[in-house]
Amino acid sequence: MEKKNLDWANLGFGYVVADYRYVSKFKDGKWDDGEITTDATITLNECAGVFQYSQSCFEGLKAYTTEDGHIVCFRPDLNAARMKDSCERLEMPVFPEDRFVEAVEKVVKANEAWVPPYGSGATLYIRPFMIATNSVIGVKPAVEYEFRIFVTPVGPYFKGGAKPLTIRVSDFDRAAPHGTGHIKAGLNYAMSLHAIVDAHNKGFDENMYLDPATRSKVEETGGANFIFITKDGKFVTPKSDSILPSITRRSLMVVAEKYLGLTVEHREVLFSEVSDFAECGLCGTAAVISPVGKINDHGKEICFPSGMDEMGPVTKKLYDTLTGIQMGTIEGPEGWVHKIL
Ligand SMILES: *Cc1c(COP(=O)(O)O)cnc(C)c1O
Repeated sequence: MEKKNLDWANLGFGYVVADYRYVSKFKDGKWDDGEITTDATITLNECAGVFQYSQSCFEGLKAYTTEDGHIVCFRPDLNAARMKDSCERLEMPVFPEDRFVEAVEKVVKANEAWVPPYGSGATLYIRPFMIATNSVIGVKPAVEYEFRIFVTPVGPYFKGGAKPLTIRVSDFDRAAPHGTGHIKAGLNYAMSLHAIVDAHNKGFDENMYLDPATRSKVEETGGANFIFITKDGKFVTPKSDSILPSITRRSLMVVAEKYLGLTVEHREVLFSEVSDFAECGLCGTAAVISPVGKINDHGKEICFPSGMDEMGPVTKKLYDTLTGIQMGTIEGPEGWVHKIL
């Protein structure tokens, strides 16, 4: 298999059109057999449900080349299960979980030439998503849908090392109590764009959202969960019904406990506790962990002892262990590394 001639190490996080995508359509109450196609364009009626009432949800995962030359992805069964939850909350038909994993395998195999080589730092980002496709004008769920997976090679998230981020406590809320914060839906992102642009304009990298009901507890950022390390070395991560259950965060909880021997606390985290923590990080598929150096709460700064130059020492161990498992240099728990080729 000849790889595409790309400058892998200098790719950004952008859309590069790969050769193949997977498409399955839902009509008359059932999903068709699905197929691999070369057509990167979707043509829809102007009144399609996705355009009018935003019935759409998505997933994100990556395929990697391991040291011994295999192509693998990480816990795709959890992406399948999470998309099921998203679909159920949005009255969309579930794409069967086993077929989801098979479709990921098919589309990665078809695009083998686009999977970055081991050691380049780049990965193949996989984007499954579902949209409502038939015309809907009265407010109700659509009856026809498209499930599609495209892939795009993405560069190393941190070029030249992970620089700690400066984030601010947001005055905008991300998710309503009992709303849709726990599902991976585009609608949660549409309303976060203003907050992120505003944060960037004011010199911050990200927003820390607090729970909208009381504004006293830490939730997450627009696209990553929080992890904290206490001064006595415990791993703490916020629990709330309106946080998106990050697969990276759930994996880090296991790594912290089983690989590093840390005490893990998954619980409500008061914002007032944050200034006592030793380290802070954001976790998600894209960067695995981004260290946070500073939090700005309306002008009042919380500076973590780990500083603004590098990841905190415990965060670094978590990062190295999880990425080691993903890249195949450290033996992972059963079922985490899913071999495709
Ligand atoms: C996708 C996402 C995350 C990260 O989840 P991973 O499964 O770790 O990639 C965190 N928060 C939000 C809001 C997300 O959409």
